[in-house]
Amino acid sequence: MRPIKITANKTREVLEIIWDDNRVVPYPFQLLASSCRCASCNEERTQCAEQNKPFVPKSSILESIEPIGSYGINIIWKDGCRYGIYTWETLSGLQI
Ligand SMILES: [Zn+2]
Repeated sequence: MRPIKITANKTREVLEIIWDDNRVVPYPFQLLASSCRCASCNEERTQCAEQNKPFVPKSSILESIEPIGSYGINIIWKDGCRYGIYTWETLSGLQI
């Protein structure tokens, strides 16, 4: 699965992806930020799980999106994570 088009809608706070099977899926920023797989979030997520606490991302305000080769995007969150890589596989697997 690969995206045809990716649009960040900062008003609605969703990242809208049109997939190559023509599905249009709005991914809420909050969900994307909570799904960040950078080293720091992974560590914090593990600690939260051990303490039975919900994981809350540092920021879910989208600053910018950068393409990563042909397999995904890097989302930069304002005052938050800068190295969270979201592969097409991760994104298409997220439950909305
Ligand atoms: Zn992160």
